[in-house]
Amino acid sequence: MTIAIERRSKTRQPAPELDVERVRRDFPALEQTVNGKPLVYLDNAASAQKPRAVVDAVARAYVEGYANVHRGVHALSQQATAAYEGAREIGRRFLGAAEAREIVFVRGSTEAINLVAQSFVRPRLNRGDEILITHMEHHSNIVPWQMLCAARGARLKVVPIDDDGALDLGAYERLLGPRTAIVSLVHVSNALGTINPVRELVALARERGIPTLIDGAQAAPHTAIDVGRLGCDFYTISGHKVFGPTGIGLLYGRAELLASMPPYQGGGEMIRSVSFDRTEYAEPPHKFEAGTPHIVGAIGLGVALEYVESLGIDAIDAYEHELLAYATERLAALPRLRLIGTAGQKAAVVSFVVDGVHAHDVGTILDHEGVAVRAGHHCAQPVMERFGVAATTRASFAFYNTRDEVDRLVAGVERVLEVFS
Ligand code: PLP
Repeated sequence: MTIAIERRSKTRQPAPELDVERVRRDFPALEQTVNGKPLVYLDNAASAQKPRAVVDAVARAYVEGYANVHRGVHALSQQATAAYEGAREIGRRFLGAAEAREIVFVRGSTEAINLVAQSFVRPRLNRGDEILITHMEHHSNIVPWQMLCAARGARLKVVPIDDDGALDLGAYERLLGPRTAIVSLVHVSNALGTINPVRELVALARERGIPTLIDGAQAAPHTAIDVGRLGCDFYTISGHKVFGPTGIGLLYGRAELLASMPPYQGGGEMIRSVSFDRTEYAEPPHKFEAGTPHIVGAIGLGVALEYVESLGIDAIDAYEHELLAYATERLAALPRLRLIGTAGQKAAVVSFVVDGVHAHDVGTILDHEGVAVRAGHHCAQPVMERFGVAATTRASFAFYNTRDEVDRLVAGVERVLEVFS
């Protein structure tokens, strides 16, 4: 079976080359052995490894110039504040936002989606209104909306996907209606790798005056993001998936919308003044950052985003595209193996099932071979149900993975076939 992977990048000039051997030297974690074999790390969609620059920046932020932000007149606090706000500016640039006040630091995409659900949608949501998501969402873009629908008597509507894992665009258009309060959809599916045509999807919603939230947790490590060009109202990324620390992420929100929204949580940092009679809130983004923020996480995230920028997203895209095509071709040639997610537009994620073998057994045998993959439902149980499987094995690639590592993955799956022959 051959699966055609379409070129998704319409770059006019050839993308710059990515020197993978040099890049790998930036990631100390890749040098280790697991079960006596050199590690092949193919669990990047769950969480990516960190370049030395990020690890060093985090250590430095704790050792030199560490203090709480915003409140201090002393030098260390001012230094920490400058670094924290500097990271916000890097986030602005990375996402293509117009202004730094449109960038809110959050714990990750999960918190960002909950924030939009509670602060933006909830006050506007009436009984009988609809929230539109897709069948390929991560649980973090399903459950917050279900909770909100249950609380407000609203209805969750789901855009179907086809047998390749691509969105049914006709159904999407038909489901956009006068009661649609928000469209919240994933840019790149973590379980299938599908890249959604977000710009077109957003445009269709905008024509009807419907706000949009894009879950870019899996897009940030692989594709260029430009919220201005996409035209969305909200966009979110998770730091740990884009080679940064855990517990930090970004929410982009259109300035006028953030300004119109009530705070998500109350506490210090998010106020202008407090008395027992009334509290005046700070302006965005601080209005949404109650309490001491993840200062060092934000600084580390800034360094991670700069690292990605330094490689060049076009170079990453081109390199990973070749890797994906190679992995797809090699895995598809194996007997008893079925690929789950074969859309024309894909990021470097390959999910598969092996006939007669549970995904956990596949993952365990691969682990013995030093190959780290994820086996399970990938927090996307509706996707599993759509394809009639309980779980898949997922190899998810980053720009530091190589063709040799694909070969190691394939050899591991061949071993699985042998053991379960
Ligand atoms: N959205 C997608 C597509 C994801 O893959 C994930 C994590 O796997 C999330 C959201 C949630 O991200 P986080 O756990 O960082 O909040």
